Amino acid sequence: MARGKPEIDSERCKGCGLCVKACPEAILELADAFNNKGHHYAVCASPERCTACMFCAIICPDTAIEIWRFAKAG
Ligand code: SF4
Ligand code: SF4
Repeated sequence: MARGKPEIDSERCKGCGLCVKACPEAILELADAFNNKGHHYAVCASPERCTACMFCAIICPDTAIEIWRFAKAG
């Protein structure tokens, strides 16, 4: 299974929650805090469980998510 890590630009996020619903691992959530535009932004609660499936990045209407995909060792 591939491994990765989402990098979410909290200032681009409008808190729509689409990525939260799209993540098969259910590791994304909206923060209690607000960004500068007054939105609850998405955060990743357990980045070590990210499979780099890209669903969140693809569905985000504001291209606020980038996915790092880790290369396999060896
Ligand atoms: S890449 Fe996939 S597993 Fe990782 S946070 Fe996004 S939707 Fe979830
Ligand atoms: S889909 Fe994009 S804009 Fe919507 S909550 Fe997720 S990161 Fe924010």
